[in-house]
Amino acid sequence: MPRLAVLGQPISHSRSPAMQTAALAELGLAREWSYEAIEVAPDAFEARVRAMAGEGFAGANVTVPHKLAALALADRASEAARAIGAANTLSFEDGAIAAENTDAEGILAALPSSPEGMRALVLGAGGSGRAAVWALRSAGAEVSVWNRTRSRAEALAGELGVELAEADPAVGGLRAADFDLLLNATTIGLAAASGEPGDADDEPDLKAFPLDADAVRAEHVVVDLAYGRLPTPLVRIARERGAEVVDGLEVLVHQGAAALRIWTGKDPPLEVMREAARED
Ligand code: NAP
Repeated sequence: MPRLAVLGQPISHSRSPAMQTAALAELGLAREWSYEAIEVAPDAFEARVRAMAGEGFAGANVTVPHKLAALALADRASEAARAIGAANTLSFEDGAIAAENTDAEGILAALPSSPEGMRALVLGAGGSGRAAVWALRSAGAEVSVWNRTRSRAEALAGELGVELAEADPAVGGLRAADFDLLLNATTIGLAAASGEPGDADDEPDLKAFPLDADAVRAEHVVVDLAYGRLPTPLVRIARERGAEVVDGLEVLVHQGAAALRIWTGKDPPLEVMREAARED
C-alpha cells in the first residue's frame, strides 16, 4: 500500500492532493496508492522525511519552504536537482532517498513549443526562478534573468551561465520587445489570484515588474508560475493582449505528472489532472 504526500508549510491550499488522487484513480491505482498533504515546519522537516520510508511512503513532493532542505538530505540527486540547488520530488528506494526537480521538466512540458532559440526573460531568482533558468537554458533558449534583489540575479546568472537583464533607461525598464518568452517566477500575482478579499491590498501590481509600458504583446509566450483560484494580473493582461499564455496551474500539472511517472512508472493522465487541479 504505497503512500505519497506533499510536504510544505503552509500546505492547506495545495492542489496536489486533489490532482494526484484523481490521477491515481484514473490509473486504477487508487486501491493501493494514496496521496496526502502533510504540514511540516522547517525544524521538523528532516526527521519527518527520514521517518517516511518506514511508514510506507514511496515518495513525496516537497514545496515551500523545504526544497533546499530536500536536496540537502538526499542520498542521491538528479543532474537537474543538483544544478538548480533544490528538489521538489523525493523517492524512497531500498533505504535511500533520491531527489529530483520536476519543476524544470514541468515548465518545459507546459510550453506550447520548444523554447530553443527563443530569447527568454525570467523574472525572479528564488527557487523556481533557478529551475526556470536552468530548464530554459538546457532547452536551448537564450536566457536573461532579473530579480528585485539584484545580487541574487547576479549570482544565478554567473552560476548557470546566463545573462543579467539590464533596464534600458530610455524606456524606463526592461524592453519586453527584446524577448520572445516572459516568465514570472516571483510571488507577484499570488495574492491577487488567491481571490480572498483583502489579500491583494498590499501586493504590488504589474508595475512591480520592471518592464516597459508596452510590455506584453501578442507575439509573446507568457508563463506565470504563480497561481490561485483566479487568473493572476499578468495572465489576465497577457490573455487580453492575445499572447500565448501558460498559467501556473498548467505548470503544476506537468511537474506533478513528472513526479507521478517517477513513482509509479506509468504515463500520467494529464487531462484528469488538469481538471482536478482547476476544480474549486
Ligand atoms: P522563493 O524562492 O521564495 O522566491 C521568491 C521570488 O519572488 C524572489 O525572486 C523574490 O525576490 C521575488 N519577490 C517576492 N516579493 C517580491 C516583490 N514584492 N517584488 C518583486 N519580487 C518579489 O519562491 P519560489 O519557490 O521561487 O516561488 C515563486 C513563485 O512561483 C510562487 O508564486 C510559487 O507559488 C510559484 N511556483 C509555482 C510552481 C508551479 O508548479 N506552478 C512551482 C514552483 C513555484 P527577492 O530575491 O528580491 O526577494
